[in-house]
Amino acid sequence: MSGMRNMWQLSGQILRKQKPSVITDYSYFVNDLAKGRKPSPLRELMRMLASASSNVIFLAEGLPHSDTHPFNEARFDLKDGTSITLSGKLLTSALQYGPTEGHPDLLQKLRQFQERFHNPPGFDDRDVIATVGGQDGLCKTIELCMDFGDPVIVPSPTYSGVLAMMRPYRPKFVTAAEDKYGFCPYKLREAINKYWSHGNSVKAPKLLYLNPTASNPSGTVMPIERKKEIYEIACENNLLILEDDPYYFLHFDNSEPQSFLSLDEEGRVVRFDSFSKVFSSGLRLGFMTGPRPLVQAIEYHMQASVLHTSSLSQIIALQLLNQLGWDGFIKYMKKIRQFYMERRNHMSEVASKHLQDRAEWTVPDGGMFLWIKVKGVLDVYEMVMSRGVHTKGVMFVPGHAFMPDPTKPCPYIRASYSLASYEDMDKGFARLAELIDEEQHH
Ligand code: PMP
Repeated sequence: MSGMRNMWQLSGQILRKQKPSVITDYSYFVNDLAKGRKPSPLRELMRMLASASSNVIFLAEGLPHSDTHPFNEARFDLKDGTSITLSGKLLTSALQYGPTEGHPDLLQKLRQFQERFHNPPGFDDRDVIATVGGQDGLCKTIELCMDFGDPVIVPSPTYSGVLAMMRPYRPKFVTAAEDKYGFCPYKLREAINKYWSHGNSVKAPKLLYLNPTASNPSGTVMPIERKKEIYEIACENNLLILEDDPYYFLHFDNSEPQSFLSLDEEGRVVRFDSFSKVFSSGLRLGFMTGPRPLVQAIEYHMQASVLHTSSLSQIIALQLLNQLGWDGFIKYMKKIRQFYMERRNHMSEVASKHLQDRAEWTVPDGGMFLWIKVKGVLDVYEMVMSRGVHTKGVMFVPGHAFMPDPTKPCPYIRASYSLASYEDMDKGFARLAELIDEEQHH
């Protein structure tokens, strides 16, 4: 066991007895590449412009003149009969470059959002930044923290998009299986102990990735007691928790779950929210909330990469949030939840009808997916990717996509109830039943 780990273990024990100690130096979590990023003077000027008084003469940035824009006005008619009209200054700001961290009015709204739904401890020491979907913030955070060969802790199964971000670093995946309530604290402890009992483990894991609400692909919602225990383990092992929560409003319960962010006394949670599943995925708009030094490092990355998230998307989301108000937003979230819950119920019925003796699944507590374990078939890859698509005309995702080690045989498939008509769900599962029967008798 390395000296480093003993040190953290020791500090973990001390932390548990005393008041939690807030992390002040994040350099342990940040790689050398990220430490080399510096703020861009041009982008800093852009930020200043956003709050400058009107008598400042602005000869700095190369902002294209709005007279050259081909657009006069934009109107979005909403399904509730109201509309959002973008014209004049508002339209110009929606079509213009903006500050890297996001439009100031949207950022203010997002801070209110976080206060309302998560009330993070010590919020003044945290920043919020608008990102190109949740994916962008996550990917840049992985790039911020990971080094080649690092161990990272992920659940099994894990959202495939995150595995794709981590794989180029040739990581050592430290995995802990989920059960019907999601990620298991005692399995997490076991996985960490197993990692350290391995003679050649030298680096301490720094990152713990979790998708706590309506996990993709398993549809589990992690109870608060588990979150508290996992947070403790993160403190003991000096882990940064990457809380990827794009399905936060898509759980099938009456009230919103309590987040890791809301528990974060020590400043070790980076939370990723997204408008993809609630407004539109094509907006490509999400936001990341975390300790200021980490968010600032992400901002430097964005200053060099995308400059900022689409101004148009930010303005649309801002106007929509303003128009709905918080009560209207919550009401709308309930409608979305109801929509997916009905589809979940239907797919569960269809699964019971066709797959009763052929597979096992847990009825998901949220999200868009049914995670199905096929019985009597060791590995479903060929069945899904070849015979399923080409012979039977039905598409699922083979579970391998969500496995940290995709080379191992995998009997799971992911079925989405988001888009298919009820009739297609029925036909699709009948075809799956035939596929399984054929595979079992192969
Ligand atoms: N995390 C999870 C678990 C997801 O399922 C997705 C979307 N598939 C994302 C992050 C990324 O979503 P977006 O970038 O659209 O916010």
